[in-house]
Amino acid sequence: MPLNADAHPLVNLAPAEQALLRRVQQLVAEQIGPDAERVAREDVFAWDTFRLLAREGVIATAFPRAWGGSDFSMLARVRIIEELASVCSTAASIVTGTDLSSRPIMAGGSAALKDALLPDLASGARQAAFALTEPGAGSDVARLSCHYRDAPDGGVLVSGRKKFITRASTADVFVAVARREGGPVGAKGLTAFVVPRHAPGVTVSAHIPKLGWNGVPISMVDFDSVAVPADHRLGDEGRGMALAQDTLLRARIGHAAIALGRMRGALQIATQYAQQRQAFGQAVGAHQGIQWMVGSMAATLEANRCLVYATALRFDAAMADPAGPPSGAALASLSSHASIAKMHATDAGMAMVVDCLQLLGGNGYLKAFAMERFLRDAKMNQIGEGTSEIHKSLIGRHVLQQAAALPQHPCLDMNPDLFCSDEAEV
Ligand SMILES: Cc1cc2nc3c(=O)[nH]c(=O)nc-3n(C[C@H](O)[C@H](O)[C@H](O)COP(=O)(O)OP(=O)(O)OC[C@H]3O[C@@H](n4cnc5c(N)ncnc54)[C@H](O)[C@@H]3O)c2cc1C
Repeated sequence: MPLNADAHPLVNLAPAEQALLRRVQQLVAEQIGPDAERVAREDVFAWDTFRLLAREGVIATAFPRAWGGSDFSMLARVRIIEELASVCSTAASIVTGTDLSSRPIMAGGSAALKDALLPDLASGARQAAFALTEPGAGSDVARLSCHYRDAPDGGVLVSGRKKFITRASTADVFVAVARREGGPVGAKGLTAFVVPRHAPGVTVSAHIPKLGWNGVPISMVDFDSVAVPADHRLGDEGRGMALAQDTLLRARIGHAAIALGRMRGALQIATQYAQQRQAFGQAVGAHQGIQWMVGSMAATLEANRCLVYATALRFDAAMADPAGPPSGAALASLSSHASIAKMHATDAGMAMVVDCLQLLGGNGYLKAFAMERFLRDAKMNQIGEGTSEIHKSLIGRHVLQQAAALPQHPCLDMNPDLFCSDEAEV
């Protein structure tokens, strides 16, 4: 049934994953859902939600066991994120945002750096923020201008400005991507570092007011010749873009899961409202025009659910490959599938929230009903971690490359013999 994701044929979770999912469903019903309006209205970092998710082990699901995590499958995490997002984007984005900022440390940090940071990030004792975007470089991130130069002690000095940095005000460390001063321009010149929040030269701005996505504030971050120790570099010099892409691959599946959960929540609210609200002597939902809207939205929801779950399954299968994590064409294909899920679910989610709000009539426009919050939050999913336009380009390029590598379609003749029969009438 589209409104219930349980017992979906694509989902087969391990017992520990299933148990945490059940616990999350309980928290959603009893605490996170009832609290969502307050979290959005206060619009300060949602410490209560963060601490709850940390205490319950939800934050730890993305971390390896060696550093205090539970190392859940992507599919289990998608299900958990979906449940949270069905009531509260803030709660869901606390989970996806933690992955976004911690993953580069897992993937590129030295053993000592991982030992020093990951257990605290997994338990919620500390937080990280991912600082990639700049005022002059968002989609075109290879043009970023934040830079570093060698310091006498063997480390580097980082300078530059980062924009839109989620949870910068509560972060203990930043994962910042920069280029060597005077070094090569473009993606190959980027390197990632862990920058301690309280190092001299780091300034975090006040929260930047925004449309929605409340409870997870964003700030500007300035680095002014910040001394970063040599062992805080993530991976080799020049690996910054590869690390960012590895991180964004996961984050994009997370965004798709948030959109999926919100779609379900919105449709449940709209359909329950339509059954109770009376118009022209019957429930709004008894009118055929509304039933067609609902039928169409339910089909969209289920199609996106299959897409997002299948993408998570592809991810899990690729990561479990005994030959090692995917690279080359296999990685490009996985990334393209993550782009498809992210673009399709977030675009469909935006459209569905608009229609669900319409179903509530004037009440949909009121702050007292959750749909206006869902509407404001939905927009962010089409922008963060690559806009829909960028994903469309990435997918299009990938498919064109694939087509060039395939044998020509048996019905395609590029030089057809175009003859007109003499008998044909013109
Ligand atoms: C609430 C919020 C939280 C965020 N959190 C973080 C964070 O924690 N860390 C971080 O690093 N960043 C973060 N971001 C930044 C986010 O990832 C960027 O905003 C996003 O990647 C888009 O970049 P931009 O805003 O510079 O848009 P631009 O790149 O300036 O794009 C403007 C418009 O042009 C379109 N466009 C650009 N290039 C093309 C093209 N080639 N073809 C077609 N259309 C194109 C875009 O789709 C968009 O519609 C956050 C943003 C928001 C709003």
